[in-house]
Amino acid sequence: MKRRDFLATTALSASAFMINGCHRPYENEKDDNQTISTRRRKKTILKLATSWPAHFPIMGTGVDRFAKLCYEMSGGTLEIKVYPKDILVPAMEVFDATSAAQIDAFHSGVYYWKGKNSAFSIFGGMPLGLTSEEMITWLKFGGGYSLWQELYEKFNLYPLIGGTTGPQMGGWFKKEIHSLSDLKGLKMRIPGLGGEVMQKLGVNPILLPPGEIYTSLERGTIDATEWVGPALDSMMGFAKIARYYYTGWHEPGSILEVTFNKIRWEKLSKEHKAIITAATEDMTGYMLQEFRYKNAKALQQLPQQTKIKMFPNDIIEAAKIALNEVLDKEANANNDFKRVLESYQEFAKLNKKWDDISTKNFLEIRD
Ligand code: CA
Repeated sequence: MKRRDFLATTALSASAFMINGCHRPYENEKDDNQTISTRRRKKTILKLATSWPAHFPIMGTGVDRFAKLCYEMSGGTLEIKVYPKDILVPAMEVFDATSAAQIDAFHSGVYYWKGKNSAFSIFGGMPLGLTSEEMITWLKFGGGYSLWQELYEKFNLYPLIGGTTGPQMGGWFKKEIHSLSDLKGLKMRIPGLGGEVMQKLGVNPILLPPGEIYTSLERGTIDATEWVGPALDSMMGFAKIARYYYTGWHEPGSILEVTFNKIRWEKLSKEHKAIITAATEDMTGYMLQEFRYKNAKALQQLPQQTKIKMFPNDIIEAAKIALNEVLDKEANANNDFKRVLESYQEFAKLNKKWDDISTKNFLEIRD
């Protein structure tokens, strides 16, 4: 899809939502038997708001698919109405709206809520840290998830893993970066912990809503931007205005979430809770595989002038030092951050020994 087509589709879909209220991908797929059995059972309808535009590729289509799966697995007794960003609540207010029970649930990125509690940025993924698969393993088996539940409970929220992006690219730069000194004074759109690290390396991190990134890069208001990976970056059109595409370090495995108002969650039937939990598991695996496949395809189709580059070693080494400074500072300021970081690091250490002799070793000999 070309950028213009993509934006037009998004705008069209958004206005269609205004009219119809929300997205119901399965409303024309009624099965007579199902309708009869649904009539006998009480139907639960939940309102879920997202931080993405309507049908936003992979993330938005992922949550649409999740809602459809919940509906089908429940025999039509559980209908999750998905509202794209800004229809019910603004993209960055879905956390508060769910916490206050204005809506039942949301689908978003965990790193967005760093301002609520800096510890949340660790659940969302760490620069130079765990990959998507490793993050999910830490959350499920290494103690991460129980900490996440505990800290979200203070906001009357119940979180579930709702997808993951896989490794993200380091971003699009208009000029080639030869060494650390080339970063000084550079204006880059980069959020989260990655932005804090870049700031220590001399970059001026800028926060911009997705709709303003392309124009800002084109006009030179910013010199560089990160986004996601080849599949989604291609739709943004960055390759037309920036030649150098750097490999990733700051988002090796970002975690998305489907989070419920906790009281609303507790009132759901055991059956519906199990269905939602299973559907989020399905969504997470599906999204990771979809990102992998579509990024691989989109990489092949990047324009010829695009140069894929790796950041020079002095930048990566400086980023490692800067990251430790950022983590120390947050851990000293916030005991929750310290506890979550300890759990994360304990798993990372345990995982590394096994990963080094299994996956890492294998990838090296396979090449
Ligand atoms: Ca990103």
